[in-house]
Amino acid sequence: MKDASHLIANDAQSIVQTHLDRLGEVKDKHLDPELKQQKFKQIADALRLRNAVLVAHYYCDPDVQELAEATGGCVSDSLEMARFGRDHPATTLVVAGVKFMGETAKILSPEKTILMPTLEATCSLDLGCPVDEFSRFCDAHPDHTVVVYANTSAAVKARADWVVTSSCAVEIIEHLDSLGEKIIWAPDQHLGRYIQKQTQAEMLIWDGACIVHEEFRARGITNMKALYPNAAVLVHPESPESVVDVADAVGSTSQLIKAAQTLPHDTLIVATDRGIFFKMQQAVPHKTLIEAPTAGEGATCRSCAHCPWMAMNELDGILHVLQHADQVIEVDPQLAQRAKLPLDRMLQFSAALKA
Ligand code: SF4
Repeated sequence: MKDASHLIANDAQSIVQTHLDRLGEVKDKHLDPELKQQKFKQIADALRLRNAVLVAHYYCDPDVQELAEATGGCVSDSLEMARFGRDHPATTLVVAGVKFMGETAKILSPEKTILMPTLEATCSLDLGCPVDEFSRFCDAHPDHTVVVYANTSAAVKARADWVVTSSCAVEIIEHLDSLGEKIIWAPDQHLGRYIQKQTQAEMLIWDGACIVHEEFRARGITNMKALYPNAAVLVHPESPESVVDVADAVGSTSQLIKAAQTLPHDTLIVATDRGIFFKMQQAVPHKTLIEAPTAGEGATCRSCAHCPWMAMNELDGILHVLQHADQVIEVDPQLAQRAKLPLDRMLQFSAALKA
């Protein structure tokens, strides 16, 4: 594995920081139950009026996930969100997640209107992989197959041969490696390293990172394990290698929920965005879930196990966009056509895998 750190755009970190500075602190929102039900009803009516369905990611706030389920939408990982949105008969999709998820929905369903509660919700991985820099990197290695994580812009996807999510990345890289292909991987360095270790594939790895998963530390988790010696540790592979090394189960959000069900442990220490607790606790109501500690402590940390951009998806924003349709995802049709190829490849591959 070669280190591609010198190839990342020099200003990627400052772009991420600028975005974070604009957001302010992430606050927990506890709604009065009566008010919440009122908002749910208003939004359900607005969804019906617009022939729309709500597609939410596991990392959204529990209220948003509950609303998606209550209104016949879906709560899932980005792969399943893409499939659900594409196959649902609604003419409008309201995507509660981050921008690349909205773009993916538009690419797969160009005939549908894609709304988001805010177009400001982005992702440090997407920001850390500007298309011009990335294209130059790819051009410098023309003999490599370009595989990008779903957490990228439509333009970066359009430059790729394959798109993958964390739930199918290992299998797809394994497949490409079996064909003797050399791989460019972007943008998450930790996931890239994890896949490389699993598959032994020849990979050039971009050095992007998720600001949430990067905060987990092996030492904090080991200390917590000492307090709960019978607990299992669940880790998302966007976390640093030392954190992955102390895990009992490593996987995508959906795979971690499955692991919570299949592992015999009654207590689980979970190293991923705490938004996942909503669905995970539903899946294992009798088990105790504990948030893995992060490096940042107390109020100074804006990414303490909750993505600040996912937190921008609020009930008020969902209602507003349904009433005003003013946060619309658009992707240039030509770019979308090109970006659809690697996305379709992933969807076909993962469907075959499932079958
Ligand atoms: S949790 Fe990390 S990978 Fe997911 S959207 Fe937020 S910054 Fe991106």
